[in-house]
Amino acid sequence: MSCSREGTSCSSGGCATSTMENHSQAEGGNADNELRERMGKIKHKILVLSGKGGVGKSTVAANVACSLAVKGFQTGLLDVDFHGPSIPTLLNLEGRPVYSGPAGLMPVEYNRGLKVMSMGFLLKNPDDAVIWRGPLKMQVMKQLLEEVMWGDLDYLIMDFPPGTGDEPLSIAQLIPDVDGAIIVTTPQNLSLNDVRKSIHFCHQVKIPVLGVIENMSGFICPHCQGVIDVFKKGGGETMAERMGVPFLGRIPMDPDIVEASDAGVPFMGTQPVSKVSVAFDGMVDCLVGKIEKNI
Ligand code: ADP
Repeated sequence: MSCSREGTSCSSGGCATSTMENHSQAEGGNADNELRERMGKIKHKILVLSGKGGVGKSTVAANVACSLAVKGFQTGLLDVDFHGPSIPTLLNLEGRPVYSGPAGLMPVEYNRGLKVMSMGFLLKNPDDAVIWRGPLKMQVMKQLLEEVMWGDLDYLIMDFPPGTGDEPLSIAQLIPDVDGAIIVTTPQNLSLNDVRKSIHFCHQVKIPVLGVIENMSGFICPHCQGVIDVFKKGGGETMAERMGVPFLGRIPMDPDIVEASDAGVPFMGTQPVSKVSVAFDGMVDCLVGKIEKNI
């Protein structure tokens, strides 16, 4: 792992670890104050979770963040998918250096409304594998929360690895006032089975479920505009209803989303008037409405 620190850079997995150790030894209890102070400047904190990988969780996280920024909210996007950070690729920010000063790490500015921090920026080689046990992940997570200089934000969107592992558990312990979680699923049972676990997890650690998004819900044929239900359809909504959590909406499977993701441009930016973008925009409005009214 490497990070640029005041003009120098350090490499290998030791960077985060040693910085973290120095930090905790030198500052001890001050770290908790720092974490509280940094998080206190962020009005709303939202987790993006999924039961399985590959269901479009990072795509949703990136597009929710972009959409909020377009709506005029000061937004941060924190990629804590340590093992597969996709946000730098989705926003074409790969290889961006992260600068550090005495007050902490500077997030990368995607545009004036959106700041980004990802484990992907801190890896010396994007193909490096992060092999950390739970306690170390917890410490790195804490360090990221303490040290990233977001400043005042309206929203912090946090993209988590799939499942109910150490990362979301750490956040539940470190930030007791998160607004809640968006849970992304695809419609087929295999994904829904795992997403139910994510919802139970949220209930257990007292993270409100803001809503379920059913992604890849039907494929719109680019030739005839007919809809093909590749992974079935409606399973996410039925499951949300049965579990008593809100359903935010559906995103169809759309080859333009893959194109946009591979090009590092959020589809909310490339296709603002496409059916998908309009539907997505509605979901984000619904989310903002719920959060601002605290319902
Ligand atoms: P996850 O974070 O759940 O692992 P990603 O967001 O990385 O999933 O998405 C996995 C792949 O699926 C990416 O190539 C992305 O472009 C594609 N994808 C996501 N949502 C859609 C969609 N609605 N239609 C088509 N492709 C999608």
